[in-house]
Amino acid sequence: MSTTGIAGKDNLPYKTYLSEDELPTHYYNVRADMQVGHAPILHPGTLQPVTVADMEPIFCTALAEQELNATDRFIEIPGAVRDFYRMYRPSPVIRAYYLEKALGTPARIYYKYEGGNTSGSHKLNSAIAQAYYAKEQGLKGLTTETGAGQWGTAMAMACVYFGLDLDVYMVRVSYEQKPYRKIVMQTYGANVIASPSDRTNVGRKMLENAANKGGSLGTAISEAVEVAVSTEGYRYVLGSVLNQVLIHQSIIGLEAKKALEKLGEYPDIVIGCAGGGSNLGGLMAPFMEDRLAGRPAPHFIAVEPASCPSLTRGRFAYDFCDTGQVTPLAKMYTLGHAFMPSSNHAGGLRFHGMSPILSQLYHDGFLDEARAVEQTAVFEAAELFTRTEGTLPAPESSHAIRVAIDEALRCKETGEEKVILFGLTGSGYFDLAAYEQYNSGTMTDYIPTDEDLERGFATIPSLPGIQ
Ligand SMILES: *Cc1c(COP(=O)(O)O)cnc(C)c1O
Repeated sequence: MSTTGIAGKDNLPYKTYLSEDELPTHYYNVRADMQVGHAPILHPGTLQPVTVADMEPIFCTALAEQELNATDRFIEIPGAVRDFYRMYRPSPVIRAYYLEKALGTPARIYYKYEGGNTSGSHKLNSAIAQAYYAKEQGLKGLTTETGAGQWGTAMAMACVYFGLDLDVYMVRVSYEQKPYRKIVMQTYGANVIASPSDRTNVGRKMLENAANKGGSLGTAISEAVEVAVSTEGYRYVLGSVLNQVLIHQSIIGLEAKKALEKLGEYPDIVIGCAGGGSNLGGLMAPFMEDRLAGRPAPHFIAVEPASCPSLTRGRFAYDFCDTGQVTPLAKMYTLGHAFMPSSNHAGGLRFHGMSPILSQLYHDGFLDEARAVEQTAVFEAAELFTRTEGTLPAPESSHAIRVAIDEALRCKETGEEKVILFGLTGSGYFDLAAYEQYNSGTMTDYIPTDEDLERGFATIPSLPGIQ
């Protein structure tokens, strides 16, 4: 191995791949190791903890069971799912040598790259598992929502592989302004519908008010759920927030930990962007296992947009996961289910709530820290990353890059040779309008005022006897 030049300067490789044989055989369910589990998910009608039977009209049975599984630490990855994973996994752990040099930091920065598949993000890891269990159950099709389109694209790939129909309710502004992902989904055979639509009660109600026409993720979720529960042989799938999604995404952390072990490395800091919490939950899971067992473990940092600050400024309370209030209630950090990030917010991560598992870990101090960052600072980091490491990152992922850079610069001041691991969740190829705003200097930052947040908090339900 070359010891000259930038890459390989300390005799460690630039990219570390596991072999296909080393692909994990089991997902890790961090929930089974938590002493204090998250508060039970409540049925929106009865306010009683949901059962598998309650969830069966919405989710396929195996996934409903995973949702409530607080006991099995490891869950076998079905062979057919591993076969599909082989198309694009194991994904590499990359040493950011070129970024380190540009920063002049003594820190060693690693990133786990999940953008190397056509859907362009980590979401495919869960889409495959969810489509597999639906097929196993003999279902005909699935419904889901998508904002910018990463999750819809991932589901389209998974459904065509397993031979399932797919209806994707796509937030109308994205449907109209970001047509390319829609075309990719259609190419994989998915049926893409602009939301709000006139196909559902929720959609028709939203369309009565012209102000709602652009749609929101919350409305698209309500529509997709309504169609799933009212169509024979259909169920609904969601790409983040849920416990089952965190279980599937643990593959990111399991691979990363194993790859770093090969290098003799263990991270001092683990950083992930947090929208609904699935990539960070997955990346940190096997390291959190160390923490929960009382072993030395990294410092965990969740990074969110200052314009949608659920962990840093939200309330830890029961709330609905959707605008239409058809989904169960979860106790989580939330900005209120009617919260809408400002329209100048370009960087994704716009969900009002946060995974109940991550919320509980944060509340109990196991997820050490949450940081909110402004979007111009995020794109500044994305630009430096693109120019040094060569990969154009998704804006969501760039939140993690921002904080990785900040931590590496802190090491430069203190001289500490910390090992930093962050999740590079996706590629930025479909986010070029946001890059253009940044490049042309027209991107602005917006931080909601306390009054703005109060309007969202006012929509958190008050549940007599519960909260
Ligand atoms: C969806 C998405 C995220 C955020 O979702 P999490 O569930 O918080 O991981 C982050 N990065 C990319 C590229 C995404 O598509």
